[in-house]
Amino acid sequence: MTHDFDLLVIGAGSGGVRCARIAAGYGARVAIVESRHWGGTCVNLGCVPKKLMVQASEYGDLVDDSHGFGWSSTRGTHDWATMIAAKDKEITRLNGIYVSMLEKAGITLLTGHARFVDAHTVRVEASPLAPDEVPRTVTAKHIVIATGSTPVRPDIPGAELAITSDDAFHLPARPQRVVLVGSGYIGLEFAGIFAGLGSQVDLVYRQDLPLRGFDADMRTAMAEAIAVRDITQHPHTSPTRISKEGETYTVTLDNGQTLEADCVFFATGRKPKIEKLGLDQTSIAIGKHGQIKVDAGSQTTEPGVYAIGDVTDRINLTPVAIAEGHNLADRLFGKEAPREWAFDTTPKAVFFSPPLASVGLSEEEAAQHGVVDIYVTRFTPMRHTLSGRKDRKTVMKLVVQQSSQKVVGVHILGDDAPEMLQGVAVAVTAGLTKQDFDRTIGIHPTSAEELVTMRTRTRETPAVS
Ligand code: NDP
Repeated sequence: MTHDFDLLVIGAGSGGVRCARIAAGYGARVAIVESRHWGGTCVNLGCVPKKLMVQASEYGDLVDDSHGFGWSSTRGTHDWATMIAAKDKEITRLNGIYVSMLEKAGITLLTGHARFVDAHTVRVEASPLAPDEVPRTVTAKHIVIATGSTPVRPDIPGAELAITSDDAFHLPARPQRVVLVGSGYIGLEFAGIFAGLGSQVDLVYRQDLPLRGFDADMRTAMAEAIAVRDITQHPHTSPTRISKEGETYTVTLDNGQTLEADCVFFATGRKPKIEKLGLDQTSIAIGKHGQIKVDAGSQTTEPGVYAIGDVTDRINLTPVAIAEGHNLADRLFGKEAPREWAFDTTPKAVFFSPPLASVGLSEEEAAQHGVVDIYVTRFTPMRHTLSGRKDRKTVMKLVVQQSSQKVVGVHILGDDAPEMLQGVAVAVTAGLTKQDFDRTIGIHPTSAEELVTMRTRTRETPAVS
């Protein structure tokens, strides 16, 4: 049977766009459907606008810090509307780049909501991006679902009164008092943004420390860094209800305490976006978190249909979705063997101020595989010897498998941590040893040189059986 296209991609986010472009580069006839934003979550409601807002939130402290270096400038005031307008202008520019990049690659752009009619047929209907779209039906030999994820809210009375990250990028004004629920990536990043711009922030989380799943020492260091930013932490706590009177919200916590705020923000995780996709017209299996089940090659349980990125709930990070999309296009249409991606050593970063970046195993994970040598250093970075912020510490940690001396984990909390860590991730991916780190010459004076000058082992951690 002949199809309209060799490949149809549903969702023009980071993963979908990469998959479409690589496939088109191999000569495949490709179409991509987008219902809302060209560039998807990362460009429109995630990584890009978030990072711009993190950067906006850091200028106030930088002005204060400059006094120690002889400057006499004062902070002035921050204008939220100016920041949002500048950010929106940049996002609009990026939307245009995505569209022209796809068009130049010879890809057919379809705007609207895609719904499966059968495993090789999709109906494209009106959507927010294309309210007047005339429904049309297209067929493809291969279909890739790259629809991403969407924020979830705890099921408590008044939950609808809270905002999520989808709303936070377009608030008309900065709330003076914010209650943030959740201490994962989004909770910490927005806590830092609001605190840096002058809001009073209460951070409510149900564990003893923020960032469940990260290395325990780094979680402790992050809790200290959050305290230094004057953010009030409420560990071991969950909200039980939200109410609103006038413009004031009241959050009741499960310890009986109440918090008043101008904005309540749920940063309580995301779920795969599969609603209204017509998956019941296919044999695609769904997992218990609502994710599309795939094998290591992104193949769903329906032959010819694949899924990549957050909708599969594997490693929910933009560069991973891009790698999955690239790899899939290589395998479907490429002439050479596809490259092997190192998903096991996917680096990750939380853009708090200061940020935290990690690659490889935590101490706790590494100890499951044998005895571990731990190296930890904690110091005041050079800038803060003069800025006067001696409490803004940098913490670095190497996790070394004792038997092989391989560096299996590197964790950094401190200014520029993500920039430092990307290069180190290459070393960890390559399986380099502590001796390789030791024989590497440092760059002086930097914080990063500490990574290659940690000579004395902090402790030996026994294997956990
Ligand atoms: P995370 O999964 O990172 O964190 C969710 C937080 O919400 C946790 O603290 C969790 O607590 C808490 N939580 C979940 N359900 C409830 C509940 N019912 N009541 C109270 N607390 C609850 O999710 P985020 O929303 O922060 O981010 C979503 C995903 O987006 C991330 O996992 C990541 O994949 C991606 N992302 C990546 C970024 C980056 O790379 N810098 C930036 C932003 C997002 P507990 O730990 O107890 O489960």
